[in-house]
Amino acid sequence: MEVRTRFAPSPTGYLHVGGLRTALFTYAIAKKAGGKFILRIEDTDQERYVEGANEVIYNTLRAVGMNWDEGPDVGGDYGPYIQTERRAIYKEYAEKLVEMGGAYYCFCDKDRLTELKAVQEASGVNPMYDRHCRNLSPEEVRAKLEAGVPYVIRQKIPLEGTTTFHDVLYGDITVDNTTLDDQILLKTDGLPTYNFANVIDDHLMKISHVVRGNEYLASAPKYTLLYKAFGWDEPVYIHVEHIMRDKQHKLSKRDGDASYDDLIKKGYLSEAIVNYIALLGWSPKGEREIFTLPEIVEEFDISGISKSPAIFDPLKLRAMNGEYIRALTPEKFLEYAEPYIRMSCKGDFDLLKIASLLQPRTEVLSEIPEQVDFFDEMPDYSLELYSNKKMKTTPETAKEALTAAIPVLENITDWNFDALHDALFNLIADLGVKNGWLLWSVRVAISGKQFTPGGALEIADIIGKEETLKRMKKSLSML
Ligand code: GLU
Repeated sequence: MEVRTRFAPSPTGYLHVGGLRTALFTYAIAKKAGGKFILRIEDTDQERYVEGANEVIYNTLRAVGMNWDEGPDVGGDYGPYIQTERRAIYKEYAEKLVEMGGAYYCFCDKDRLTELKAVQEASGVNPMYDRHCRNLSPEEVRAKLEAGVPYVIRQKIPLEGTTTFHDVLYGDITVDNTTLDDQILLKTDGLPTYNFANVIDDHLMKISHVVRGNEYLASAPKYTLLYKAFGWDEPVYIHVEHIMRDKQHKLSKRDGDASYDDLIKKGYLSEAIVNYIALLGWSPKGEREIFTLPEIVEEFDISGISKSPAIFDPLKLRAMNGEYIRALTPEKFLEYAEPYIRMSCKGDFDLLKIASLLQPRTEVLSEIPEQVDFFDEMPDYSLELYSNKKMKTTPETAKEALTAAIPVLENITDWNFDALHDALFNLIADLGVKNGWLLWSVRVAISGKQFTPGGALEIADIIGKEETLKRMKKSLSML
């Protein structure tokens, strides 16, 4: 049997990290087995519909390299792949199920259902539909349909016995049928509920493995009953745990780093996000932690999926992102870094040199603007920056250092890193001082900052002779 998996997001305009992880596991299962990965848009909840939300899904999956073999825009043999375009299919199967005795028409109106629920809640019983319409005669049903009374179609749950469904992680789960509600399959607007659509679509699309959040576990026996009523085989189920912010709280939109887009905006690399998310709830064999998407596919095994909730650790993600950044070629890093450098540094500098200073010390790209904001112009700074215990410097020693360094630098004709290095290190030797005694003061004088990417020589090389000397003289005049 061909392995066919699907990612079935609802278009909410927001792809949660948990959803992306589901997509990733789903993709890996299919690709590892040489099977097909299918994208299905579950948009039957019209109230939740958000304009442009499908594009968020397409763009994210494409950005991380999870291309789908069948889906809304690429087509396939089992389409359409957008649920609202499958209306007629759900109606047909719901009516078929009524004929087969697995479902029934229900004409109860909102008022009756609200009242029923209130009474049940008041008497402390679990609100469930009271099966009022379950035994209407075929004539009564026909008459109401002909009169145009709005209806839903409900699942006819067996009144006794038990239902067992199987999940790869949880094993067999058996429930008493009396605990299951005659849930709605087809709504008054003619659209199916998730509970119906997932079964019809997974069957018709020949899905072999379903990976989804374990919030669906409770309803799963009802899906099993639907498969049984139709006489269909069930897919393999893998219900995964939530991704948590901490032991008590799910990672939520409010946290600001719960979606792929949030993380990209914060300056994480796509590859690092995918790698980190894969490890939330999946353990590869061995100690290795760095995996590209093709390597995840290669290593993937369902038995590595965990049943316990995974905790999203922003520090771990940062560290992993730093590893990815350091592994980039300098040119590739510049490609990522340039927009961030340009946020606070507009001047005509050698950006590859700036990037090479940033690359070893950057964990997320969004840290960059603050680090390069002194290249265009000296910031306001306090003379106290010249005081450094370790370097044994003070504003007074800075005055001496700058006074000595300015003429030496003025003498350089071919301004480059090596020339700067030779000139200042010769001066250090001549003066008999420690490196830091001179270089700390020069760096503060040309950057106005306590911490900079690169030291005095690198910065002077980048900003050039004229600017270096201008800054040093101005700083000296303030000392
Ligand atoms: N549309 C459902 C959701 O976004 C998908 C669940 C499933 O994969 O079956 O939660």
